[in-house]
Amino acid sequence: MGRFDHTQYVSMTMEFRCNLKCVHCMIEDTMDHLKPQTAEDLHALFAHNVMHRKWKGLILTGSEITLHRDLPEWVRAARLSGFDRVRIQTHGMRLGSESYCRELVDAGVNEFFVSIAGADAATHDEITTVPGSFEKSMRGLAILDGIPDVLTITNTVVTERSYRQLPQLVATLAHLKQLAQMEFWFYFPMSEQDDKQLLASHLDALPFLKQAIADAWRSGRGIEVKNFPECLLGKDRIALYNDQPELYIDEAFWTEFMRNGFYQCVHRDACASKQCLGLNTAYIKRFGWHERELSPLSPEQVLFPLRD
Ligand code: SF4
Repeated sequence: MGRFDHTQYVSMTMEFRCNLKCVHCMIEDTMDHLKPQTAEDLHALFAHNVMHRKWKGLILTGSEITLHRDLPEWVRAARLSGFDRVRIQTHGMRLGSESYCRELVDAGVNEFFVSIAGADAATHDEITTVPGSFEKSMRGLAILDGIPDVLTITNTVVTERSYRQLPQLVATLAHLKQLAQMEFWFYFPMSEQDDKQLLASHLDALPFLKQAIADAWRSGRGIEVKNFPECLLGKDRIALYNDQPELYIDEAFWTEFMRNGFYQCVHRDACASKQCLGLNTAYIKRFGWHERELSPLSPEQVLFPLRD
């Protein structure tokens, strides 16, 4: 199961530049016109939280937040305004520098959410399209693993190119003591079709996903899976957690996001699942409805997942 309560966190999207060009990037077509939240917005959020204590954790995010020179200053201000947890979401390239890791930790970052695209350098770098990116991110995770009171979380966007590597990825990161959680987010395009042929078939990915979940749990890792049909997971569906922290982002993002057409399933009316996102338009066009493989969950199954 996951380790973090998303209701305790708020995300602020503060930067839309990036120095990688991941093939699965969801905002590659919108990055140049989406507007980040402003420093004034951020400080207004701090003031709100001082008054109301709504959140314990702040997540600073965007395409690549470490490209913003004010990041350490924002983190210091967040901690001073009462956020106990400050997380950055990053592709990890700058974490390869120990002095930068120390600068962020000294400012008050205590959670690092790092994207790892594949289980080895060849796969990761092919997906990010930047040679050496895997090595830098892995070095960053190793540096952070030696700094007290720091937690790391990895996030892997699962695509046709990466799903077979999920168990290997768990093994590759097995040495990290402060890796609290691994997240596996199944890719969807911000469009009605899978132009890049990146979608992974849920049926093909399932055995790799279940193996990765079992291996991660055995080593005490938290796991969060996102955007996978709940009924396919059996007992492992306790790893499915589609919720997200409250997010502040340019409204224009949601127009693009809604094109994915989530929540489609032939069994939807008969299914008691509250959190399953079902299938999306691009997925159905490529792989069909899986009407025989998907099966509606009963209210008892939803309440008592471990009884399956
Ligand atoms: S039957 Fe459909 S809605 Fe229900 S859990 Fe399965 S995929 Fe999700």
